[in-house]
Amino acid sequence: MQRFDPPLSTRLSRALAAMIPAAALMLAGCATSVNPVSGRVDRGLMSEEQEIRSGQLIDQEVRKEYTPYNNPALQAYVNAVGQRLSAQSHRASLPWKFTVVDSPEINAFAVQGGFIYITRGLLAYLDSEAELAGVLGHEIGHVTARHGARADRDQKAIAGATVLGTIIAAAAGYSRAAELINEYGAPVAQASFLLPRSREHELQADQLGAEYLQRVNFDPDVMIRVIGVLRAQEVFARDEARALGRNTDETPNWLRTHPSNDQRLADIKRIAAQYTGKYQDEGRGRYLQAINGMTFGDSREHGVTRGQSFYHEPLGFTLRAPTNWQFQNAPNELGVLANDMSAAVSMRPSPQSRGDHNAAIRNLLAPDQGRTEAATINGLRATNFIGSKQGRSIDATVITLGNLDYVFVKMQKAEARGSKTNALRDIVASFRAMTAADRENAEPYKLRTVPLPKSNVPSTTPWAELARDVSRIAPHLRNPEAQLRLLNQVYPQGTIAAGQLVKVIQ
Ligand SMILES: [Zn+2]
Repeated sequence: MQRFDPPLSTRLSRALAAMIPAAALMLAGCATSVNPVSGRVDRGLMSEEQEIRSGQLIDQEVRKEYTPYNNPALQAYVNAVGQRLSAQSHRASLPWKFTVVDSPEINAFAVQGGFIYITRGLLAYLDSEAELAGVLGHEIGHVTARHGARADRDQKAIAGATVLGTIIAAAAGYSRAAELINEYGAPVAQASFLLPRSREHELQADQLGAEYLQRVNFDPDVMIRVIGVLRAQEVFARDEARALGRNTDETPNWLRTHPSNDQRLADIKRIAAQYTGKYQDEGRGRYLQAINGMTFGDSREHGVTRGQSFYHEPLGFTLRAPTNWQFQNAPNELGVLANDMSAAVSMRPSPQSRGDHNAAIRNLLAPDQGRTEAATINGLRATNFIGSKQGRSIDATVITLGNLDYVFVKMQKAEARGSKTNALRDIVASFRAMTAADRENAEPYKLRTVPLPKSNVPSTTPWAELARDVSRIAPHLRNPEAQLRLLNQVYPQGTIAAGQLVKVIQ
């Protein structure tokens, strides 16, 4: 669903690993400094200079993995909104930088020293400059209150979908993601992205966000709508899970440890009620103009899912998922998961092996033992591997396309009793080079603003009519009416007057 980045290194994991020593440094603590928000002395916090320096290093790494979205006008607009807020914050003198990252995830995060990131995925669901300011104000709050060296995963439901280890862990029958991460050799540091911020920190960031909004003369009430956007995504994800026949009670453990958006909503309502006054216009027109034409959903650079096919144009491959299976696209991994979570294929590139399939298996799987067998898949050189590691069996295939080796690992829960074996094999066997026709299918969607039409048929809503247009352009988009409603903050219900500008997908 999300991203899949060439050259697919472990840079971000390294960046995250770098954050752990930074946090440890804070605890070891040589410095003592005054917290800019509380005014109290915080023992063991790094000096501001150290904080900026380490933030700059992490920022460099984040940028390699989360590439900035290529739209200078939009970048300038978001940065200007952020600068107005940070200039009014408790730490105006930090070298603040606000970046839109090219990701369909719904997320915003902050790195110490004043580096704030917001995904284009989240921008799509916001509806005004004031709401954008609300998100940025919250992230600024994490930095000004010195919440530490961790990246902020704000949107838990969506972030969860992107942390493939968790999902594959569920599919493979592991109780904890960490076990799987160790098992398959993914850097443990990746798990640090999963660590939730405490409810106290989230609450404080929401409070500071509201305060900074007020300081730039935006109504702090918009924070309620911003949290509402996250809440609506949760409701939608649950509705979709139900439609796909998934057990919605099977929430991964780590998700349950996050403060719920319901709780946040209640908290922020209480906070916003403390502010009264007259505020400037929300800047809806300016905002909609700035995001008009923005890529929506998957981007060409990270790979595009269309129906049961996945296309990665820069790497030139495509593969298919059987009916009732779906793709999960993460920075270093593409997953294909059975909807009932009983089986999954994980595909990871092996940038270092350069055609040496044994090296690819060693590097990515580190098995204790096993045997290989040469094969050909759609004209591509391949190697099947059956082996084991610490008593657990490994069933893998390596395929070379261009100058990259791709390692597929097939996983099946015991309760599937082998019923998914053929499907797993078919997924791997569908891997092939892209054709010109594939490239046409892989065209990314765009977000456009149009006036909401008057419904011509009294029994339908304008959303149903717009959804029909969207279906023609994007036949594979699931539940287009719900998607349009989410984009325009009227999910599951709500009305907008005819003639008002709304966001559509083209
Ligand atoms: Zn936060």
